[in-house]
Amino acid sequence: MDKYEGMAFVSGEICRLTGVYRARCHPMVRIELDEGEIFPPCKAGGSQHTAIWEYVGSP
Ligand SMILES: [Zn+2]
Repeated sequence: MDKYEGMAFVSGEICRLTGVYRARCHPMVRIELDEGEIFPPCKAGGSQHTAIWEYVGSP
């Protein structure tokens, strides 16, 4: 089990952990983000919105 499982960030926050993240609002949406990058908005469903991104694993 990954010790970082359950970590979550909000759109606009700086990524502190390189990894794959899943949008809580649209769980099919997954992004890979590097440390230092900014979490983007979620664009699923036709409108851009603030999302909570949950860590799901290393890239
Ligand atoms: Zn979404």
